[in-house]
Amino acid sequence: MPAIPPTKPYRIGRSKTGLGLFATKPIKKGTKIIRYFGPLLDSKKADEDAIENKYLFELDKRWTIDGSIRENVARYINHSCKPNAESDVKPRKKKIFIRAIKDIEPGEEINYDYGTDYFKAYLKPIGCKCEACEKKRAKKKAEARADRVLQKAKDERKAKKKAEKLTKDTARDPAKDKAKQRSKAKASTKAGGDAQARGKAKSRRPVPTVGKRVKTRSTVKTLTSRAKAA
Ligand SMILES: [Zn+2]
Repeated sequence: MPAIPPTKPYRIGRSKTGLGLFATKPIKKGTKIIRYFGPLLDSKKADEDAIENKYLFELDKRWTIDGSIRENVARYINHSCKPNAESDVKPRKKKIFIRAIKDIEPGEEINYDYGTDYFKAYLKPIGCKCEACEKKRAKKKAEARADRVLQKAKDERKAKKKAEKLTKDTARDPAKDKAKQRSKAKASTKAGGDAQARGKAKSRRPVPTVGKRVKTRSTVKTLTSRAKAA
């Protein structure tokens, strides 16, 4: 990584998408932050026109700056769809500066909009990872989640209402109710009858036996005691 003098208001640091340029001091809106520089490529020269990399910056139809050189610290600045800086292109001077378009606080990443051509060629296919786009994606996700929760609650309310209505309908309709009771009674009579028959078969024997024996004894006893008394 190229060394940056401590007098500069920025440093290279880790960003979400790799490396980025971060403010180390407050940068006032309108300040020239850094120059974007590199060899000038002339599109009229076939061999220079053939050069291709992600750091080419077009000055005009003829001239392009190849910013891929190591010394060009400005190449670390990432793209943002909602940037705090912009590229100030001066074709006549063949120079590009990155200028703050907002007050930038220390620690903030410095960004500028790379432009439609770059966006379409490199960012759109993989999805832009800038903070603005990430926020938009997160918001959409949260909205979809909220929608799902709302729909679930709606479905549950509907199901509950349906169940309540069913219960009420049964209670309110006497004909239906009576028919139900009748069929219930039939079913229980049949089941109860079977149960009773089974119960009788089991209890028939012991009950009379016990009754008979007790009655006989007590009768005898009573008779005996009466006889004694007499
Ligand atoms: Zn974006």
